[in-house]
Parts: sequence; structure tokens; C-alpha cells
Amino acid sequence: MTTSILHATLKENFGFEKFRPNQEDIINCILNGHDTLAIMPTGGGKSICFQLPALILPGITIVISPLIALMKDQVDSLKANGIPACFINSSQTEEERQFYIESLKSNLIKLVYIAPESLSYLDNIFNSLTISLIAIDEAHCISAWGHDFRPAYTNLGYLKKRFPSTPILALTATADKATRKDISEQLNLINPKTFVASFDRKNLSLEVRPALDRVKQIIDFIKEKPNESGIVYCLSRKTTEELAEKLQKIGINAKAYHAGLDNKIRSKTQDEFINDDCQVVCATIAFGMGIDKSNVRWVIHYNLPKNIEGYYQEIGRAGRDGLPSETVLFESYGDVIQLQKFASQGLNSEVQLAKLERMKQYADALSCRRKILLSYFGELVIENCGNCDICKNPPAFFNGTIIAQKALSAIFRLQETEPLPVIIDFLRGSKNAYIFEKEYQNLKTYGIGIDLSWFDWNQYLIQLINLGYCEIAFHQQNKIRLTPFAKKVLFEGEKVQLTTVQKINIDKSEIKEVKSKAVANSLFETLRKLRYEISKEENVPAYVIFSDVALRQMETERPMSDEELIAIDGVGKAKLEKYGDIFIKAIIDFQKSKSSKKKKEATTYKETLILFQDGLSAEEIATKRKLGLTTIISHLAKLYVDGHEIDLSKFASQDEVSKIKKAQIKLEFPATLKPYFDFFEEQISYDKIRIGLAIIEKEKNILI
Ligand code: ADP
Ligand code: ZN
Repeated sequence: MTTSILHATLKENFGFEKFRPNQEDIINCILNGHDTLAIMPTGGGKSICFQLPALILPGITIVISPLIALMKDQVDSLKANGIPACFINSSQTEEERQFYIESLKSNLIKLVYIAPESLSYLDNIFNSLTISLIAIDEAHCISAWGHDFRPAYTNLGYLKKRFPSTPILALTATADKATRKDISEQLNLINPKTFVASFDRKNLSLEVRPALDRVKQIIDFIKEKPNESGIVYCLSRKTTEELAEKLQKIGINAKAYHAGLDNKIRSKTQDEFINDDCQVVCATIAFGMGIDKSNVRWVIHYNLPKNIEGYYQEIGRAGRDGLPSETVLFESYGDVIQLQKFASQGLNSEVQLAKLERMKQYADALSCRRKILLSYFGELVIENCGNCDICKNPPAFFNGTIIAQKALSAIFRLQETEPLPVIIDFLRGSKNAYIFEKEYQNLKTYGIGIDLSWFDWNQYLIQLINLGYCEIAFHQQNKIRLTPFAKKVLFEGEKVQLTTVQKINIDKSEIKEVKSKAVANSLFETLRKLRYEISKEENVPAYVIFSDVALRQMETERPMSDEELIAIDGVGKAKLEKYGDIFIKAIIDFQKSKSSKKKKEATTYKETLILFQDGLSAEEIATKRKLGLTTIISHLAKLYVDGHEIDLSKFASQDEVSKIKKAQIKLEFPATLKPYFDFFEEQISYDKIRIGLAIIEKEKNILI
């Protein structure tokens, strides 16, 4: 098939401008009648690989999927694009099923989604259907090696025998070779062509933080993104509930999700999340399998995951639409200990422990995290990614020999019998009951580490463990023991390189209600609201109407005609017809209101200026205009920058201005005032900072 026909089909029906890696090759392979095995990461774009051929091929495409919950969304998405599709599964009434079976017989449907357990509904009518393609989604479910084994999948091998000349496309995000072979053999695929897409998801940022005050860090994180959907994965059911409650208390729309909750509650939460009615889900790993939501903007791991496979799958639920999305993993020493215990007690303990060790190495990495992840999946990457915390903020090494000596000798003095917290207390000369009970205060080196904080010692000790100078005896109450390498540091003068402790900025202000930030008046938000309203009317998830990518593009491109709108990624013919007018109108209205707002702004500045020129003080203008003093001061600052003659010297002294100037350089030109305010430890008011910045800006304008 020529490239241009495939591209035209892609644009017209799905609205996409270009194929993602491997999509076109896979489609061509199918159209040439070959059996195909497609291995792509979550969010890689597997669906297009069978949905597009389904439109070109003459008959019906059967899509076998284990995820009943997903079928409706996928069919809704297809319908929104004007593609006739249906699903058949046990959630429907017999009547509904009969209706769709009749539609299939009358050739009114291009794609039918079906669970393997329900295939018998089709068996009877197979003879009267033209089947052009069979797609088997989540094909790893066939393999007992894999993690989601589904017995009904093992029966699917008969399909190839029943339809020997119909191509089969098997799709999965599980990469390991044993599973791949299993899929191909059990499905009786004939010389399948195999495509393995890169597992790199460049749009996901990777970050690991020490688990200090996690809840506060999470709240600060969510506060920054009041309308963005996200998932917090927790190890225990209890944590999901506690965290959800804490978030709710301060006004964040969060819910808990775990396998112990009633089925109804679970599916309600899931629906609300998918439909943008619930912003945050605090969940165990039970959540996510059935989630196809393309606009999950962030994923947080409250606890260290058990292994990299699970971790990668979970963060993969963010940013399926390809827009930048954030992931944060909290690492705590306590979690590591707990996970070590689980792993060593469970089945296959050696493998589980080794996997946990790799996970820990990832979390403790001192080089590009993405390289580590991808090498785990067998991909070699040369370049650093630039989108992980290590790349953005490379660790600085310093000579940490003295710190190491202090720590190791403390362990030695305590005769290798104490866990990490006691060692830190000992180093810091803590006066707690346990120390006194053991009379540790009488030992040499007690308190030699008073100069460092508890948090810093914790980090340095973990580094020393990772460097191999000491180790945790997991089977003996987590005592810290020295390894033979410690001797070299203690007695033979070996030097130790440590990295500076990552500073985490926790907003120290009290947690207040989370108020919607002033994002409300962007075009994106306007369009998001419109999308939400339409989704409610049509009873489909919002992202089915338009993806976040499409809305972002509309925000930057401002399309105001059909021709301009169809150029947006994700706008195909059907969506243009259905939603074109209403979105274009919203964009035009937005433009109009902005320009009238500008006019209004100009008049409000002018009024302030006139009163100021009449000799009124800022306070007097504020009273007269019934506006806040801060507003008037910001008017004056703006008028000053715009070139009006206004004496600002009484608002901020020369000394203050030069301080602000220095801070500006030190803080690397922050966009907001808060960093300055914090920098001056609240000693210089916001108004002064505002004025100071205006003076500095004016100076620059003159220089240029
Ligand atoms: P997977 O099943 O591999 O997890 P999906 O098929 O659900 O991935 O696709 C993930 C997202 O990417 C969806 O929102 C889909 O609409 C979008 N997508 C797929 N192919 C393209 C493409 N060629 N261009 C732009 N977006 C695409
Ligand atoms: Zn990196």
C-alpha cells in the first residue's frame, strides 16, 4: 500500500499527522497478509496498528482483549471518529448481544471487540462473516510465564486453524523472549514478522526523591497542577486510604483504590477518574490495567516498587498522549527493608530479591536513570536523556573521607549491633532514652557528627551502604555491619567520594486548602471545560472527544476556520463535523474577550496614572479606586516600565534595589516573586520586590 494512502487514512479517520515508530511497518505487514507480532510499550500506539487496516480491508476485524472494562472506551473512541465498531462481552444483555450480532451479519460493523471467554457468541456466525484480520491484544496473557496469565487465552490457537489465510496480529507490551516465543507458538502463527519498538518514553520525566515528609511533598506537587489527573501508587491498602483522606481534607479531589474495596466502589472510582471527575487516585498496583486514559499527567510512587517491570508499567500510564508528563518515586530506607522481607519470604525469593536489588540500584543511581531503565529492557542507549533528575541536576562529588570515617567508626563502636537510626542518633549525640539505657553516651565518638542533620546522615549512610563499606543485616533486626572494605577507610587511609545531599524544598508554610490556581483563564482551560461538558452530554470520557495534545495545539495555533482546525493533530473528518463549529466559536470568543480585557486593563492603568499625576499617594488612589494597595503599586510599577515619569524611590531604597538585583542573578531570574521573598527570609515585602524589579527592568530597557 502506498505511503500516501496510509497517511491519508490516518489523517482522515484518526486525525493524526504522522505514524509513530513501527506503526506503518506493522500495518504494511498485515496488509500483505502476514502474521505479525508487535511489541510496543504502553502508550506506544498499538491500537492504530489494527484499527487502520480494519478500515482498508474489506471484511471485519476481530479484536480479542481481556479487558472488558476497556472495550466500551475503545469503541466510543472509534465511534467518535466515525468508525462503526461494537463490543460483545458478558456485561451486555442477551438482547444487546443479538443486536450487534445482526449488525455484524449485515456487514454494518468494521471492528468488533470481544473477550476470549465470549468468542463462542461469534462461533455460530463465523460462516456468514468475512473476517479480514484477527488482532489479539495483551497477547502475553497466553503465557504462563507472564504475569497476567488468562486460561481462556490458551484456547485461541484454534483461530489460525479455523482461518488459515487470515492474518493474525498479536500485540503486547511485555518484551521478554520466552513470552514472545510462547505467544507465537500457542497462537500457531506462521513465520510471524516481529516488531519491537523502543521502550523509551521520552515524554516521561523521571525523578527520585528521598521520602522525607512525603505527604507534604505530594501536596505541594499536586498544588502546582490543580486540574491535572494523576495516580499515587502505594504499597499497602491502608496507605491508599490514609493518603486519599489527607488529600481530601485539604480540598484535593482524591479517592482510594485497592482490591479490598467493594467492586462497585472500585469501578465508580475508576469511571470518575477516566471521566475527569476525580483528579487523583491513591492506589495499590491493582489500579491501572483497565485504564486507557490518555491524559494522566503524572504518576507518583509513594513507596519503592518491587521491581523495574512493575515500576515501568505503572509510570507508563502517564502521558500516553505523548505530552510531557511527570513521574516521581519516593525512596525510603524503611520501604527497602520491608520489601526485602516480603521478597525473601515469598515464592522464588532469590529472583525477587535480585529484582528488588535492581530497583534499588535504579533509585540510588548517580547516572542517567533512563539509561538504567532501558538497559534493563535490553536497550542500549548512548546519550544521556536530559529528562531525568540526574541529567538535570548531576550529583556533585566531594571528598567525604572524614564523614565516612565518622560513620564507620560509630558502627564499629556500637559493635555492629544497631540499625541505622540508632547509629545516626549516636553520631548526633542524641539524648534519647535508648541511648542512655545502653549507656552509649559514654562511648568514644558519641556526638562527633553533631554538625550534620539527621537527614544528611541518613543519606550519607545509605551512600556508604551502596558503596559497599557497610551493609544491612536484614535477617538480624537490620543491624548495620561493616564489610571488609570498611577497614581500608578506618585504618589504611582510603579516600571516599560522596555526593552532596539532595536538598528538597518543602514549602514550610502551613497546609491550607488547595485553591484552584489562576489557570482558569487560559484558552486551554476554556477548551478543557467545553470538552468536559460535551463529554457529559455524550456520556464518554473527555479524552475521547479530543486529546490534551489537540487542545494544547488549539491553544497555540488558535484555529478559526475548518481548514485551520483540521490541521490540528487529532482532528479527523468526523470530529471536525461534530465538534468543529463549537470549538472554533469558543476560540473566537476567547480571542475577543482577551482583546477587550486588554482594553480594560489599559483603562485601569490610565485611571491610576491620572490620579497619580494629580498628586495623590498610592494609598489615596487605592482608597479612591476601591482597589488594594498592592494592585495600585503594581500599576505604578508597570506604568514606570512603560516609560511614564513616576518616582518610585519612596517605595524601595537604592540599597533594596541592589539587593534585589543580586538576588535576581543568584536565583537565576525566577518568574514569580515568591523565590525572592523566601530568599530575603520575608524581610523585604512583596511590594518592594515588585517595585525593585520594575526599576531593574527599566534600567535594562534603557541600556538596550
Ligand atoms: P497502547 O495500546 O500501545 O498503550 P494506544 O493505542 O492506546 O497505545 O495509543 C496511545 C495514545 O497515542 C492514544 O491516545 C492514541 O490516540 C495516540 N496515538 C496513537 N498513534 C498516534 C499517532 N500516530 N499520532 C498521534 N497520536 C497517536
Ligand atoms: Zn537522564
